[in-house]
Amino acid sequence: RGSLPRPDETRIMVVANQKGGVGKTTTTVNLAASLALHGARVLVIDLDPQGNASTALGIDHHAKVPSIYDVLVENSTLSDVVQPVQDVEGLFCAPATIDLAGAEIELVSVVARESRLQRAINAYEQPLDYILIDCPPSLGLLTVNALVAGAEVVIPIQCEYYALEGLGQLLRNVELVRGHLNPRLHVSTILLTMYDGRTRLASQVAEEVRSHFGTEVLRTNIPRSVRISEAPSYGQTVLTYDPGSSGSLSYLEAAREIALRGVTSQHVLPQQEQRG
Ligand code: ADP
Ligand code: MG
Repeated sequence: RGSLPRPDETRIMVVANQKGGVGKTTTTVNLAASLALHGARVLVIDLDPQGNASTALGIDHHAKVPSIYDVLVENSTLSDVVQPVQDVEGLFCAPATIDLAGAEIELVSVVARESRLQRAINAYEQPLDYILIDCPPSLGLLTVNALVAGAEVVIPIQCEYYALEGLGQLLRNVELVRGHLNPRLHVSTILLTMYDGRTRLASQVAEEVRSHFGTEVLRTNIPRSVRISEAPSYGQTVLTYDPGSSGSLSYLEAAREIALRGVTSQHVLPQQEQRG
């Protein structure tokens, strides 16, 4: 614990990709747990009505539990709904319940409907190093709320056929939100998930993504791993479910890269310039 620099202010990271099944939720909860194990204080906000991130963190999210729905649609505060995650010190979760499925429609008539989440985060007074927001597989009002609240977009890309398909739409939405609602917003991080080093396809996709995006792509890829996919059914991240597994180590390393990049401008870049 405590081995990595902490950011000067809370880094708000939106994990988005409107494709389902690419590893958004898996990445959100495992990166969050990794950052917490590295010594950071981290809040996961579950913005998917399925509540998969809440499940994976072992957080109760049956219909009566105070949830992010109450924050967005009613006037609850984040403090009313945030729960600590068992077994991982410094990790917290604002759960999603199935109510959230109606929020896209219910929010339409609400004042400042795009900035409900931003408002709630601004009012939250607990000290945090990171907030990770797990988005649903769509670009609707819930994802827009995340993009307005956040500064960094994290895009998990599954190493499969058509990996880049549909990304243009996400990137255009990021530009739109940046232009109209949130000038700080940018794509900071691309993470290759479900990487199978034995297949040619995976390395081809990785190469394509790296040539398309460049420095945003983390050096660490997340391997395809049964341990990663088993962990949620025990209400755990892979970090506590199987700490020594390749999946666990790769998320710790990805988190380390992210933490170090947060201080890139002050520490790492000048050194590299001298070398070059
Ligand atoms: P999304 O949130 O984008 O829909 P998920 O994170 O739920 O995607 O992942 C989709 C499925 O793939 C889940 O069943 C999950 O357990 C599995 N999965 C995700 N990452 C990995 C991985 N690295 N190795 C094996 N299975 C994975
Ligand atoms: Mg998900």
